[in-house]
Amino acid sequence: LLKQPFIKQNQGQTLPSSSTIAALKFNPEDIQTGLQQNEFIAYYQPQINLKTGELHGAEALVRWHHPNGLIMPDDFLPLIESNQQILLLTESVIEQALKQMTIWLESGLPPLQISINLSAAYLYELDLPALMTRLLKRYQAPADMITFEITERIGLSDHNQAVSDTLTRLRLKSFSLSIDDFGTGYSSLSQLNQLPFNEIKIDKSFVFHMLSSPISKAIVESSVTLSHQLGVRCVAEGIETEEMKQALCKMGCHIGQGYLYSKALPPDEFLNWTENYISEN
Ligand code: C2E
Ligand code: MG
Ligand code: MG
Ligand code: MG
Repeated sequence: LLKQPFIKQNQGQTLPSSSTIAALKFNPEDIQTGLQQNEFIAYYQPQINLKTGELHGAEALVRWHHPNGLIMPDDFLPLIESNQQILLLTESVIEQALKQMTIWLESGLPPLQISINLSAAYLYELDLPALMTRLLKRYQAPADMITFEITERIGLSDHNQAVSDTLTRLRLKSFSLSIDDFGTGYSSLSQLNQLPFNEIKIDKSFVFHMLSSPISKAIVESSVTLSHQLGVRCVAEGIETEEMKQALCKMGCHIGQGYLYSKALPPDEFLNWTENYISEN
């Protein structure tokens, strides 16, 4: 089952090159085992309110604790996204994140927003609004603390009615919806127009170069302006230096994350990091 659909279902779309596949340190069959053994672990990267310096929340970023070592999402997501395993992975990450929200509250942290990445592929097969209703009840988490970041790595049509219905139902339930990697690939203005997003997430490739490339700077600046005009939240990822942070803050970008603050951390380290950050700020 796992060997063929990757090629079949993604015909004509961007596929990882054969050299990328050859570089992978696992067999596609391992994914099934990994899911059964709970080897896919959500890490958390802090998100900071750039104006006040307050901790805003965290983005959940999955890592694979493979028996042979840690595997990053870019190395296994293309394979998982090409079949239904993405549904199991999505459910697992959401459940881990909601569990953490409870743990953080019980540890005395202020309520933190949590962002969860969703692949558009197969989104229509996962009854996410129903799943979320069940999970919110189980973990006593409020919908308005949860943001779904949507990317379209493998180019699902933005006209897919089922996806658009799912997203609309989530917004009606007070979840936030973010366009991830804004400005790249399929994450574009037409999506902002057609789908009920209330957050723009500026891609790190623009943030990385905003101080050296006038074009990147212009893209970042106009994305921030666009967010102001639309009345949606603006988040920048990939902030690595104080200068980048200052520039984004001056432009009026609301929220930021990046190695300047921290990389994504395992749950217990995130808790330590957060307690330190709060006591120092
Ligand atoms: P993304 O959602 O755009 O996440 C941002 C990526 O940039 C993350 O890479 C993060 O670790 C990295 N990053 C953040 N700040 C910095 C920085 O200052 N410098 C540098 N060099 N990198 C930074 P990561 O964790 O490898 O994730 C890659 C992509 O995999 C994510 O991009 C997201 O699209 C996807 N992904 C991660 N977790 C999940 C998941 O649970 N479900 C789904 N569907 N996709 C996921
Ligand atoms: Mg993201
Ligand atoms: Mg991104
Ligand atoms: Mg990305």
